Amino acid sequence: MGCSQCIVHCSNEFVDKEGKHVTFSLEYETIWSMGGMTGIDDFDTIAQLDRLCDGIGVDTMDTGVAMDSGYKNFGGGQAAIEMVEEIGMGTPFGKILGNGAAAVGKHFNHKRVPVVKGQAIAAYDPRAMQGNAVTSATSPMGADHTAGNVVGEYMAGTLDPLKPEGQMEASRKSQIAMASVDCTGLCLLASFALTTPEGGGAFLKAMNAKFGLQMGPEDISGYGDQGSEGRIGFQPKGGVYIRR
Ligand code: SF4
Repeated sequence: MGCSQCIVHCSNEFVDKEGKHVTFSLEYETIWSMGGMTGIDDFDTIAQLDRLCDGIGVDTMDTGVAMDSGYKNFGGGQAAIEMVEEIGMGTPFGKILGNGAAAVGKHFNHKRVPVVKGQAIAAYDPRAMQGNAVTSATSPMGADHTAGNVVGEYMAGTLDPLKPEGQMEASRKSQIAMASVDCTGLCLLASFALTTPEGGGAFLKAMNAKFGLQMGPEDISGYGDQGSEGRIGFQPKGGVYIRR
């Protein structure tokens, strides 16, 4: 399964003991926020929480961080399910929880609220990934892990995540690259294929054919540079628009 018009189909399916469907796309971020961050170590409970959040229409990352406030026992799976169900029922507490981690922290006057500019931090701890901290501090969305994630450089071993040197430049580069991808309309998850010469070349060919352009690789990053300021994008029927 995956998004309807995408051939990548990056989603998984989680089933119960009888093989019956529970949820689609039980992702890394959900397992972290509903599991590691809440002390819940039972996969079936985490899948159930994911299903509830999907059905209600709330973000799993934002909802998972709420348990740290001490409202219910940390690690209590059933308690977590009941809390999320309250969002769906629209109870007074459910409304607070449904407004995300910042609202929960404010309500409980909780000192430790993992948000930047009101946006919940994803599973990329900025204390140990300083480039991501730069992105959170400089991006309009705050802790948006799709705005300029530097994790690729850390995994490749080209940048030490704990040393301040190079983090600002890495964040800037990543923010421009991710803005480039956003300009093209390509899903960020599918865009990793562009880092191969075959993938990047095929993508450029498709974009040029679709929009009647003669773009080279450097043009895409140029668009990202301008796109990061919200000034450029691709027209659905061809060409690019530039807002000055
Ligand atoms: S790669 Fe992106 S568009 Fe494709 S199925 Fe995954 S999330 Fe959806």
